Amino acid sequence: EQYRAAVESVSVLFRLCDDTGEQVPSGWTVTGTSFEVEWPKDPQKASLIRSHFGARRVAYNWALAKVKSDMDAKQKNADHLSTSWTLEALRKQWNQEKNEVAPWWGENSKEAYSSGIADLVQALSGWSDSKNGRRRGRKVGFARFKSKRKDQNRVRFMTGAMRFEEDRRSIVLPTIGALRSKENTRRIQRHLAKNNARLLNCTLSERWGRLFVSCQVAVRTNVTSSRTPSKPNVRAGVDLGLRSLATIADSDGNIEVFPNPAPLRTTLTERRRVGRALSRRIPGSNGYRRAKAKLDRKSVYIRRESIHQLTRYLVDNYGEVHIEDLNLAAMRQSMGRRAFRRSVSDAGLGGFRPTLTYKAKRAGVTVVVVDRFFPSSQIHHDCSGRLMGAKLAKRLTCETCDVEVDRDANAGLNIRDWSVTSPGLVEASALFVPRPLSGTGGSSDDGLTYHLERGCKTSSNAGRTRRGKNDSWTSEHENLVKGASL
Ligand SMILES: [Zn+2]
Repeated sequence: EQYRAAVESVSVLFRLCDDTGEQVPSGWTVTGTSFEVEWPKDPQKASLIRSHFGARRVAYNWALAKVKSDMDAKQKNADHLSTSWTLEALRKQWNQEKNEVAPWWGENSKEAYSSGIADLVQALSGWSDSKNGRRRGRKVGFARFKSKRKDQNRVRFMTGAMRFEEDRRSIVLPTIGALRSKENTRRIQRHLAKNNARLLNCTLSERWGRLFVSCQVAVRTNVTSSRTPSKPNVRAGVDLGLRSLATIADSDGNIEVFPNPAPLRTTLTERRRVGRALSRRIPGSNGYRRAKAKLDRKSVYIRRESIHQLTRYLVDNYGEVHIEDLNLAAMRQSMGRRAFRRSVSDAGLGGFRPTLTYKAKRAGVTVVVVDRFFPSSQIHHDCSGRLMGAKLAKRLTCETCDVEVDRDANAGLNIRDWSVTSPGLVEASALFVPRPLSGTGGSSDDGLTYHLERGCKTSSNAGRTRRGKNDSWTSEHENLVKGASL
């Protein structure tokens, strides 16, 4: 027992560093945390930080050039011995060549070069996985050289003297030394001090001209506060929306509406002014960056905050949460970039599912993801009739029973009652025979179910091919009925 902490922590480090990241031993959980730190007043230290950013880029570009020249040589001569695309092999090669490539290498931590090479290895494996069908989602292109203008300044430290100081203000990084956090580091420092957490790695990055240190930490599960939901037997259905951030329908019959923060919209006039200023500046220049940074930062923080509030509310209250499988790529395609940016990006919907998932896991809440093709806002919850209404209408009318319902609340109820094994809705609608719709586009759905119409084209979900816009809902329903009868 005396050595337990040490043995456990070593094994945690060991297993996490073997690149899988999945094998966290029981009793431990890996979490991330991020602090904004001040740019050092000492100009030498500040330039040392910039030097690290540059060093990472140099190593990345060097390794990419190496890989490319190997590929070319291999094409000409099949016997050519290429460096393999692993961190170890490339790092070894770097150590042999660094005196010629970067005679100044000693100025920076070796982690800076290692971090660049590791990033390239990841990019290459992403490309080859995508090419060989081992990776889902959008196709990944081949790695490209990083330019100072476009690449985000960052560097990751995996080993070396990294620590959170007792004063709960300073974060120490290898070679660079102490950086002063703008925020108290208590939330992680107290666990580290008591040996209940291990620092796995730290990333120093620059965004909006500001410096951030983000760390991956393995924490003993018994010290992470895990609140259990107040209503463990209540199930909630969440309809994410653009009109309001979310509409929650729970199995007690309550409907809760989370308003949209719409950070970009509220700052739209300000954005216009900034936009005019930007047009006079050179993209990528310091002036451009400064002009853009403030507004961007503001909206990112508002988004993040609203998603945190919503997910916290859900896991603090419900034992089971049903959510939609939003196809953001398809929504972006069908809405156009501008509209998408102003509504979906604005609400930060992309961050909802990952945030909810990790919080739910900690609190023991079940998350059920509803089938992507479930037409949650096209079926009347009470009678399973087809809902009619204008494209962005807030209220819809049921074709069968002529009742007017709130679109979001109705969708929330449908999502709440959806289940993989017994789609309750379909059972209830066994007698309902859907008929093909007339060709008016007016009854199609808005943002929430865009995936019904255009998502099909991008979806890799085999066997679920959508035909035209008009019969999409019908075949949808048929599929569900078929599923239920089986
Ligand atoms: Zn109805």
